[in-house]
Amino acid sequence: MLKRWTLTLLTASLLPLVAVTAAAASEECDPYLDPSNPACAAFDTDGDGWLEPRVRFTWPTETSTTPGATLVATATGDDLFRPVTVTFARPVTRDDPWGDSIAFATVTLAPGALSAQVAMPVGEPGTDHFSAEALDPSGRFLGDGSYRVAVGRFASALDADLPAPRTVTAGAASQRVTGTISGGERVVVVQVRARDGEWVDVATGRSSASGAFSVPVPTYWVGSHTFRVHAPATTLLTEASSGPGSLKVRRGYRPTGSTQHALLGGSSRWNACTPIRYAVNPARMRKGGKADLRHALREVSAATGLRFASAGTTSHLPRPGGYPDYPDGIDIIVAWASAKQVPMLAGSTVGIGGSAMSNGQRMLGAVLLDTESFRRPPAELRRMWREVMLHEVGHVVGLSHVGDRRLVMYPSVGGGTNRFRDRFNRGDLTGLVKLGAGAGGCTGETEYVRGAARTSLLGPEAPVRWVWDR
Ligand SMILES: [Zn+2]
Repeated sequence: MLKRWTLTLLTASLLPLVAVTAAAASEECDPYLDPSNPACAAFDTDGDGWLEPRVRFTWPTETSTTPGATLVATATGDDLFRPVTVTFARPVTRDDPWGDSIAFATVTLAPGALSAQVAMPVGEPGTDHFSAEALDPSGRFLGDGSYRVAVGRFASALDADLPAPRTVTAGAASQRVTGTISGGERVVVVQVRARDGEWVDVATGRSSASGAFSVPVPTYWVGSHTFRVHAPATTLLTEASSGPGSLKVRRGYRPTGSTQHALLGGSSRWNACTPIRYAVNPARMRKGGKADLRHALREVSAATGLRFASAGTTSHLPRPGGYPDYPDGIDIIVAWASAKQVPMLAGSTVGIGGSAMSNGQRMLGAVLLDTESFRRPPAELRRMWREVMLHEVGHVVGLSHVGDRRLVMYPSVGGGTNRFRDRFNRGDLTGLVKLGAGAGGCTGETEYVRGAARTSLLGPEAPVRWVWDR
C-alpha cells in the first residue's frame, strides 16, 4: 500500500495555496493507481515521501464530567489527497456500548482542511461512550477511535437547622426542621434511625424553587429517636444528609398487663419505608367503622413507626386464604361481611385479621368484621367494635393471641368482660415493637420492586402464605 514519492518540500506558508488548488490537484493524484504521479507530492502532509492517508483522533483528557457538559474531539487527517468523511457515533442504548450505534455528527476532512472539531454533549449521570470512524470516498478505512467518560452528579449542598433535643408526648405538635438544599425543588425527608442503622422516612416534604424547605419532625412514633434530614439523589444531584438530631416521644397513657406476646407468621415485617396503603370496603360498614380503623392505625403507628395512607374505598372483599387478587395500589383491605359470605365469621367470631407474606415480607393484609348484630347497649357495642378493630389490625401487623386477659391480643374481646380497651397494653406493645420500623427499617423493597413482587406472589418461587386469626 505504501508508495514511494519524489519528495517535494512544502513550506508552511505555501499550505494555503495548496489548499486552494487541492480540489483540482486531487483529480490528477491517485497514489493507488499511479504511485509516481508528481501531482501527489502536494498531499504528503507529513513530508515523509510516502502518501499514506489516515485519520487520527484526539479525545478529551477528562475521564469524568458533569451532566450538561460538552466535550470536544478532534479529527486530523494525514496525506489526504481527496475528501474523507468522518462519522461520530454513540450507542443507541446508552448502557450497551457494544450494541448498535447512531451517528450524531459527520465532518469532512479535505486536503485543504485537514482538521475538524466535533462537540460531544454528554447525558445524565452514568457512562457515555463515543466512537468515530473515517472512510474515504471509495469506502477505504482510514482510522477509528473511541472514548468513554463517566458522567457524575453535581454535589448537593444541604444546610439544616435541627430543633434542639426535647421530650414530647405522642401526637404533640411537630417542630419543624428548616434549611436550604441546592437544586431548587426536590424531595426532602426527615428520617429516623432504625435499630439496624438503616434510616426510615417519617415525613416527606419538598424544597421550594429557592431550595428552602420546612419539614415536620413527626411525634407519632413512641421512642427515643435519632433523626436527620435527607435529600435523596435526583437525576442530576447527589444525595445529602444533615447531622443527627434527637427526639424522645413518650406514650400518652400507662399500658398495663404483662409483656406476653406472640407473633402470627413469625417475625416477618411490613415494609416500613413506604406508607402502607389501606382501603375500606364501605358495603355493610358499621357506623363509626372508619373512625375505629383510623384510631387503630394511629395506635399501630405509635408503636411501630409504620405509616399508613388511605387508598380510598374498594368493592373488593378479601377471602381468608384466597387468591390475593387485590386491586393495584392497595395493601390492606378492611371490609364487613356476614358468615354466609365468609364462613370463618360464623359462630361467636366477630372479626378476623391477617396478612399475606411472600419472600419473608408482609405484603397484603385484610380485616373482616362480622355484620351480625349483637345484643348489647349501643354505647357498649361501639366500644366493643373499637377494640375488635384494634385486635384485628394487630393480627394484620403480625401479632398472635396471648393468654393474658389484660392484653388486646387476648382472643376474647374485652378479655371476656364488657370492659373494652381502645389502646394496646404492655405485651401488645412489646410484640408490635418487634414488628415495627425500629426493628430494621426497610424490608429492602422499593415501591417499584414491591409492585413486581406482588406479581410474583403467584409464582412458584414466592408462594404467598396467608396467616389469619379471629
Ligand atoms: Zn384474634
